[in-house]
Amino acid sequence: MRRKLAAGNWKMNGTGPALAQLEALAKAHPDPSVDILVCPPATLIDRAARILRDTPIAIGGQDCHAETTGAHTGDISAEMLRDAGATAVILGHSERRADHGETNETVRIKARAALQAGLVTIICVGESLSEREAANTLDIIAGQLSGSIPDLVTGEQLVIAYEPIWAIGTGKVPDTNEIGEVHGFIRTRLERRFGTGVGRSVRLLYGGSVKASNAAEIFAVPDVDGALVGGASLKADDFSPIVEALESA
Ligand code: PEP
Repeated sequence: MRRKLAAGNWKMNGTGPALAQLEALAKAHPDPSVDILVCPPATLIDRAARILRDTPIAIGGQDCHAETTGAHTGDISAEMLRDAGATAVILGHSERRADHGETNETVRIKARAALQAGLVTIICVGESLSEREAANTLDIIAGQLSGSIPDLVTGEQLVIAYEPIWAIGTGKVPDTNEIGEVHGFIRTRLERRFGTGVGRSVRLLYGGSVKASNAAEIFAVPDVDGALVGGASLKADDFSPIVEALESA
């Protein structure tokens, strides 16, 4: 049985005062029936983890380096995330693939480091609008899955987020059949590569313009085990109804 996951990605948003949103979120969900994860900017991880220490809400990073230590100015290792209080990390987000030229290979070696450090590892995949319009979505997803996921994974630690690039921050969302098609495809590919035991226990998140008004419909799609939420995770009042929709799904 996969435990559902509501994950928030704050991206490059938030300074100290934003931590009040985490306090509000924790207050609203003292005993959630789903996992809740917030990934703030790296500068807030340590403070966020302290604030949430005695709550069920977990904190994650938005990226990590593939190496444990070394001459990599500005980078953060998976161990450093753990040390700061993170228990998860998002890898291969389309913004990192676009802004930092991250390839499937880059994501795979980062994921290997994150898994070794014991972090829940959320690997993002998703097609561009032109790829969808050219009917290449499943081929693109297949390539990202085989290239970005390391060979040694456990179903509990690995999470895949399907995030169509054209749906991120745009208010556009694929219809539920389209989401279901891709999630079903991802599940089949995982089962084929890792066996049914692991393949069935990996959680699959949908991401891209999820908000309170569309969450319930998306969470009703088979093989959607939760969401990776950007803009609507910044305020507890926006994220909380999404968590509640997932609890009722
Ligand atoms: C994201 O960036 O992971 C995301 C899903 O953003 P938004 O919810 O704002 O579309």
